Amino acid sequence: MVTIIYLNITIAFVMLNWNKINTVLLDMDGTLLDLNFDNHFWLEFIPERYALQNQLGIEEARNILLPLFKSMEGKLEWYCLDYWSKTLELDIAGLKAEISGLISILPHVIEFLSALKQTNKKVLLVTNAHRDSLSLKMEKTCLQPFFDDIICSHDFGFAKEHQTFWQAFQNQQGWDKQSTLMVDDSLAVLRAAQTFGINNLISIKQPDSKKAPKTITEFSAINDFREIMPT
Ligand SMILES: [Mg+2]
Repeated sequence: MVTIIYLNITIAFVMLNWNKINTVLLDMDGTLLDLNFDNHFWLEFIPERYALQNQLGIEEARNILLPLFKSMEGKLEWYCLDYWSKTLELDIAGLKAEISGLISILPHVIEFLSALKQTNKKVLLVTNAHRDSLSLKMEKTCLQPFFDDIICSHDFGFAKEHQTFWQAFQNQQGWDKQSTLMVDDSLAVLRAAQTFGINNLISIKQPDSKKAPKTITEFSAINDFREIMPT
């Protein structure tokens, strides 16, 4: 008797013509790295420490902090460790280092980056993360050698949500919009890139491994990088 077991694994593939891609722009948090670290840090760990420092209950601390975080979304200060250290009177970089064990790479990212390395495409990490946060994450994940360059929006003074960033970044690096692929978990960032004229845009369905996958209709979206392996 022969038993055939069908494994119900479905891998969808995003239509992408790799022959026409020369430059790949990759976001860091929520795209290559599990957003669980950042979500846990800002929504659990910081409220705990803030509550402790200010002798508040954890819910009380959350009620103060969450609207504060919300009001800074999309602004460069949101990603600025110095800003939050000053505002909250906490050593944000030190606290990040304290739980750095939670920093992890999303599934199949290494496979994807290794395959990209075999091609002659330019691979740039483009992040809104603060340089201190970036260094900590590169130190923990050892991903740095996979990139031709690392672009930090702080260096331009504008977050990726702003057209000014895209114009300055393109002027500096000189890539061509038509032959550029960008992968980012932030819809606001993808919209900004689309407005700027980048057509090959891909989003991430599950940026945080501890949360359910999102339904994304506005952009092509992948479950993991196996769906867009370079050919
Ligand atoms: Mg991101």
